Amino acid sequence: MKHIKQSKRIICALLCIVMAIFVVACQSKPADSSESSSSAMFTAGTYVSKAAGQNGDIEVEVTVDEESIKDVKILKHNESPEISDPAIERIPKAIVDQQSLAVDTISGATVTSNGIIAAVTEAIKLAGGDIAALSVKKDSVKASGETTEYTTDVVIIGGGGAGLAAAVSANENGAEVILIEKMPRLGGNTILSGGAFNAVDPGRQSKQGIEDSVDKHYTQTYEGGDKLGKPDLIRTLVENAYPAVEWLESLGMKFEDEVFTVLGGLWPRAHRPSDPLGTGFIKTYEKYINENDGIKVLLDTKATELMVDGGRVVGVKAEGLEGDVILHANNGVVIASGGFAGNVEMREKYNESWPSLTDLKTTNHPGATGDGIALVEVVDANLIGMEQLQLLPMGDPATGSLSGNIEKGVENRIFVNKSGDRFVDEGARRDVMTKALLEQEDAYMWVVLDSVDYPTGDEKNNFNESMNELIEQGRAFKGDTLQELAEAIDVPADNLIKAVEEFNKVVETGGPDAFGRTLFDQKIDQAPFYAGPRVPTVHHTMGGIEINTSAQVLNKDGNVIPGLYAAGEVTGGIHGTNRLGGNALADIAVFGRIAGESAATKK
Ligand code: FAD
Repeated sequence: MKHIKQSKRIICALLCIVMAIFVVACQSKPADSSESSSSAMFTAGTYVSKAAGQNGDIEVEVTVDEESIKDVKILKHNESPEISDPAIERIPKAIVDQQSLAVDTISGATVTSNGIIAAVTEAIKLAGGDIAALSVKKDSVKASGETTEYTTDVVIIGGGGAGLAAAVSANENGAEVILIEKMPRLGGNTILSGGAFNAVDPGRQSKQGIEDSVDKHYTQTYEGGDKLGKPDLIRTLVENAYPAVEWLESLGMKFEDEVFTVLGGLWPRAHRPSDPLGTGFIKTYEKYINENDGIKVLLDTKATELMVDGGRVVGVKAEGLEGDVILHANNGVVIASGGFAGNVEMREKYNESWPSLTDLKTTNHPGATGDGIALVEVVDANLIGMEQLQLLPMGDPATGSLSGNIEKGVENRIFVNKSGDRFVDEGARRDVMTKALLEQEDAYMWVVLDSVDYPTGDEKNNFNESMNELIEQGRAFKGDTLQELAEAIDVPADNLIKAVEEFNKVVETGGPDAFGRTLFDQKIDQAPFYAGPRVPTVHHTMGGIEINTSAQVLNKDGNVIPGLYAAGEVTGGIHGTNRLGGNALADIAVFGRIAGESAATKK
């Protein structure tokens, strides 16, 4: 009997294999395929396949003849606009040019690059291609080794928000500019950011009945950083934040009509760009660059050294894809190369406020490696506040990124730990919330909210992800009752229900509650209820190069270094121990703009 059963199983298995071969053969023989000869590398035709990217599936169409890959097209994807664009533009072309699946991924868009390569691999399998042979890495194309030299008025290092603001502002002030960016795309952390831009805005805020003042913004920034920020720099920031909003609007940028309180922002003065994430800033600057003469952008070009003559910074040495690049600057150089949250070694070297950060993930793009700090050693620039690193309690457990975050504003959500208990004022400073989270079991929490901001579940977060998609991917959870939600996220239901009930009671009085929370809007009582998991993640580096209010770099004796300016996250001295949420985008626009003007006018 046993023997007969085994034989039956073998026959079944064989039948399955035959059927599988038949199915694959049917799939792999596209409508327009021709018969292949035995020596052909592929069955000629057009094949469609898909694989997972950053935000869901990427669908590709691959056309092959018998000898080669003729074309790769991306048919559908949901990748973040602009952030993934270099991968979407370059990977298909690289596969065709190199006739290989072992092409280099694009820095800053690795997941998208790998998604495209995986989808093309599936299509090539359907075409009968030899995946192993196509996956052998070919020698990369050698750079010509030639040195290219440029002379301009202002050289800018870094094409994030600070560098681009400086480029536009220098150009507006009559200077010719070259901006170099080491990554294959502009944007840096700025393009990935949530876009929240703090500014006291009499128009928008008074329409919402929000009282505010530049002095209040000053005090919250100064005290929120434990009085370690330099008062003159903070004053420059808060006074010029709204003019920077108006400047951006004059360049074509659109902000929403309502301001809001961003996580750790302490007050509803954050402006939300109409375009997703920080893409609006970069699009706006790029539009200016395209429509006006005088700004040249060199991508894939990494600054390696400042050129100094008689104590004055006169240019930059850089490495491009094709060889070395030497940039002479008649007026000066602006460093806008961003922070170092992506550089684990530097994090460990400077961190004094947190336990070891080696194992924590970061929200930052891979280019946030603190290059500017090393560049200024040669001129003895002063560094300030380097030990101040900001963590957020809002990282995706798998990646550390802010993607998958379900919150839409501070007022209408709570955090609970694995026991279903609240543990902190969710409107507090970022360091306070993260320190509290680090003390919870597994440093793990759930953001819990109701459907007020998600009436259908199809509403998208900043990362172009809807609640329904996150639930489908197992990155967020839903319950028609709090009991159901507690079961879905495996926390004690009694505790979660009690936490929400107590929160709702305080909403009626306006607080403060037992944790000192004062920011409330609506109760959490509109079913369905949602929860998303979050962990601590390294987010921002408050320290950096010391500047004065004209964005001139100071040396260790407090003197201006001629010809050298800096702006953005590479600088220190503004945010003290703790940057308020929404203050960095204001900082980079305000000081980027000032740095551009100072360099153009040779201040
Ligand atoms: P970046 O935008 O990082 O740009 C620096 C550029 O310099 C990069 O493109 C980098 O590749 C380039 N570069 C580096 N080294 C070199 C080199 N050697 N040669 C050439 N180029 C080089 N702040 C807010 O106020 N509101 C928010 O909502 C907000 N959300 C955020 C969300 C995320 C996920 C992150 C990571 C940050 C967020 N921040 C936010 C912080 C804020 O976005 C950053 O502090 C700010 O964008 C930094 O701007 P930057 O121009 O100084 O640096």
